Amino acid sequence: MKPFDREMTAENKPFGKLAVILRMLEALIFPKKCLKCGIYMEENGAGPHTLESCFCGHCMKEGVYPIVPPFCISCGIRFHNSFNDSHVCGSCLKTPLKLGQVRAAAEYKGIIRDGIQLLKYHSKPGIAKIFERMMFQTFLQYYENLPIDLIMPLPLHRSRMRKRGFNQAYYLSRNFKKLYHQSFQRRPVWDMDISSLVRIKKTLPQTGFDIEERKRNLKNAFKVVQNDRIRGKHILLVDDVFTTGATCNEAAKELLKHGAGRVDALVLART
Ligand SMILES: [Zn+2]
Ligand SMILES: [Zn+2]
Repeated sequence: MKPFDREMTAENKPFGKLAVILRMLEALIFPKKCLKCGIYMEENGAGPHTLESCFCGHCMKEGVYPIVPPFCISCGIRFHNSFNDSHVCGSCLKTPLKLGQVRAAAEYKGIIRDGIQLLKYHSKPGIAKIFERMMFQTFLQYYENLPIDLIMPLPLHRSRMRKRGFNQAYYLSRNFKKLYHQSFQRRPVWDMDISSLVRIKKTLPQTGFDIEERKRNLKNAFKVVQNDRIRGKHILLVDDVFTTGATCNEAAKELLKHGAGRVDALVLART
């Protein structure tokens, strides 16, 4: 059993059984609604940090599609029709990313895509806690053994932040230190950094743009404001969705320009 799984099982905790009983009582008194279709859900025994605690059985049938090998070892895209081992994809060979490697928890489809849209556009930040745990599992799988110095949620422009009220990338990683401590009973060697990089350009939504338009839209969107903190550091960017990677790549470009040693990315979903 992975260290993290231990932490996720309510029954293993002191008063675990009591917590389960309380949850059942809570479900009787305040029945939960499915975040997607809105029907009342019966108590299904799902733990508090699972997708099944947010979505009904019918909506869960849309599925979760974890990114499993083979995938591109650079941009993290999953190869569906390849029987070879993971390797660098054609697109990364042609135009290498500024990022060292990108790893995603799941493909951007099914219930994950619905959940991300509910989080970002329908003010359902509660689901972020569940997504954050999926991100943390992916972090442990691919980054725990790399010498990461800083974990950096991708910043939003202040106008977008005002409109949405929160930064989803921050919500997907804000408890990483706590989760790490719960898993290993020690402090991580890396630190969170939410202040060294800022987004200075109000960009248009990327939907509908092709690769070149996305790059142009993002050009000079980020600015490093604390050079000393990032110099020589191995930085892990965190974001919700990675499509062409224009956003993460532009942030990586700015960080490397100011002396970062290496920049990788961890995302919840990869298209
Ligand atoms: Zn539903
Ligand atoms: Zn690739």
